[in-house]
Amino acid sequence: MRCDKAIEKYLSLDNNQSMPLSLLIHIFVCKQCNKEIQQLHNTFSELQKPPYAISLESKIMAQIMLHKSYYQRVSSFNWVAAGIIIVLSIVSLSYSDTLQWLSLHFGNKLLVPLYLVMGCIVSGYIGSYVATHLKKLQAIAHNIKSLL
Ligand SMILES: [Zn+2]
Repeated sequence: MRCDKAIEKYLSLDNNQSMPLSLLIHIFVCKQCNKEIQQLHNTFSELQKPPYAISLESKIMAQIMLHKSYYQRVSSFNWVAAGIIIVLSIVSLSYSDTLQWLSLHFGNKLLVPLYLVMGCIVSGYIGSYVATHLKKLQAIAHNIKSLL
């Protein structure tokens, strides 16, 4: 292994990742690389100590706090419209000519995957609604619970 490749390999390692055997052998044999990697190790260790680590962490956290949190609100009308479209699609699917044509060619083997896909779509819709309206649903559940 050449010296520049050895240093490049050392720098490509993630934090606390063990060095490959070829690199260890090269470091053991080559005094120049041994010295350079030792200096790099000392520098990286120094950077992880409090004065640098805290200031770097606080700068990063300050930058993160400056960013606006991503939250996209979907109106109730869009939720209802999407639900109606899904229900109408499922109801109209059983009357469609395409399904009858597919059933003619594939028989009943088509129905199970089709119902699985529809189940996934309905589950995704309901799961998305619950995940985005969790606080509202908790309040409704609390009100129902207090009535009982
Ligand atoms: Zn070397």
